[in-house]
Amino acid sequence: MDLRTLLSDTVAGHRLTPGEARRLMEVTGREALAIAAAADEVREERVGDRVTYVRNQNLHVTNICKNLCGFCGFGRPPGAPGTYLHGKEEIQRRARLGAERGVTEICPLSGVHPGFSVESYTDLVSWIREAAPGVDVHFCSPEEVSFVAEKAGVSTREVLERLRAAGLGTLQGTAAEILVDEVRQVICPRKCDTATWLRVIREAHGMGIRSTATIMYGAGESAADRVTHLDLLRGVQDETGGFTELVPLTYVHRNTPLYRAGKAPAGATGREDLLLIAVARLFLDNFDHVQVSWGKVGPKMVSLLLLAGADDLGGTMFEDEVSVDAGAEDAAFMDPAAMARIVSDLGRRLVRRTTSYSLLDDPPADPA
Ligand code: SF4
Repeated sequence: MDLRTLLSDTVAGHRLTPGEARRLMEVTGREALAIAAAADEVREERVGDRVTYVRNQNLHVTNICKNLCGFCGFGRPPGAPGTYLHGKEEIQRRARLGAERGVTEICPLSGVHPGFSVESYTDLVSWIREAAPGVDVHFCSPEEVSFVAEKAGVSTREVLERLRAAGLGTLQGTAAEILVDEVRQVICPRKCDTATWLRVIREAHGMGIRSTATIMYGAGESAADRVTHLDLLRGVQDETGGFTELVPLTYVHRNTPLYRAGKAPAGATGREDLLLIAVARLFLDNFDHVQVSWGKVGPKMVSLLLLAGADDLGGTMFEDEVSVDAGAEDAAFMDPAAMARIVSDLGRRLVRRTTSYSLLDDPPADPA
């Protein structure tokens, strides 16, 4: 089948096979723009002219991490220079700051501290809920859930139940990276394997705890690996409907061990960024939302990716040492007014949302 026919069939409702998605992901030349245009049509059909964002605050807990993934410039071993571990007082000070800024979501970002236990995570959730009542505490990846469950000798379901009882709102769909174990062995060998990640996500969704789904790409995996990952996410979504959105995270390479050792490329190219978003939009016919991570791709690329199937700008963030430490510039905060400028330039409408995509008010006027 020629590419134009495949794209028009897909816009009309054909469910792409993994083989077809791989073909699209590998396209070079101007056909990449035709794929982006088809994805943009599907986006319009699914969510109209809305581009959403959430007023949120990242909250760094510790940069001490047992995993030391090769693609990460943030996690450090215990005792390394520049390490920190914030206690209750500092966590609550930052959470209160978030509440004063009117955030609806607080998103702790943390290394997986080797000393953490189930109680460390439930305490963190309840400290934040106490200091910022009413916010969605969007926290804990399947990796963190499985790590502390194994340490305590309890089931991952029990950990999820205890987190929910402490006030967890939604689960972070992070630590997915690429859900292909051969790739994980290279980029994050100490993290949980693919089967564990998928099991914990299914358990959470089955309990009514929704989550994001992430993909961290551009660290040397193949187009086939990216599609395998998307196919696993699509399968889970068919079963549970529990993913709120796909969050594509392009590899920020500069200050990471893998890149410095010559074992990873200098991140994804612009073509790969464009096609990841576009093919994800076309392939994930059971996801409503595809996000652009402005802190990783930069504000100009955001415009292009919003024309290639994306419909969400993620959060205002206020702090993101994970991207900054890996070498991303200007990753810490995006003013909704700056988002509105990008969005209105495309003839679209910026709308604030909650973590689970309930729509809130319209944003401030474009300052330009
Ligand atoms: S990606 Fe997460 S788990 Fe891996 S080293 Fe960085 S902070 Fe630790």
